[in-house]
Amino acid sequence: MRLVLATRNRHKLDEVRALLAGWDVDLTLLEEAEAADLVEDGVTYAANALKKARAACRLTGLTALGDDSGLEVEALGGAPGLRSRRYAGERATDAENNARLLAALRGLPAERRGAAFVCVLAIVAPDGRWEVVTGRCPVVVAEAPRGQAGFGYDPLGIVPEYGMTFAELPPEVKNKVSHRARAVEALKAHLPAFGIHPR
Ligand code: IMP
Repeated sequence: MRLVLATRNRHKLDEVRALLAGWDVDLTLLEEAEAADLVEDGVTYAANALKKARAACRLTGLTALGDDSGLEVEALGGAPGLRSRRYAGERATDAENNARLLAALRGLPAERRGAAFVCVLAIVAPDGRWEVVTGRCPVVVAEAPRGQAGFGYDPLGIVPEYGMTFAELPPEVKNKVSHRARAVEALKAHLPAFGIHPR
């Protein structure tokens, strides 16, 4: 069974592939030209995830999975949230977004640096059926970037039970506790209804 992931983010593809390793599914990325058509103008993660999945399903004729995710920082009232990818500007790099977040939290002690990564996944079948699931992972925002692995805000997200950022932890550990891991776990309950089964 082929499933297309409605993103151009290779890191998301690698993570979701690893998370679905025990499932009989061939996960592929959208072509670059097709990904250019994905628009994220919804007012919720779910709306964006569904929109991306529906567009990918329409473009490919395949069952599609949309991932919309972000980092919600308590001291910032939930920002950057939906705007996580564009926090420091429309074409901001991960490093620029991380720098802006560090500046926004400068001087705040660890107990006021609480945040959560959020991942919403939407699956859409060519016949129009859909399902949406959510995963959250509480973290503490580090005072400086730490580690090389992963992407996005990974170098700033300290997972309390490990005392390390997602960028310091091996990918297998990120894939045990992350927001995306939790969303995929919830998604598994729905996959058989979309023709996707454990190997
Ligand atoms: P979008 O889902 O493409 O709108 O963007 C999600 C953005 O949230 C990414 O560009 C990252 O900045 C951030 N993000 C989402 N998931 C993760 C993650 O697993 N680690 C670090 N940052 C993430």
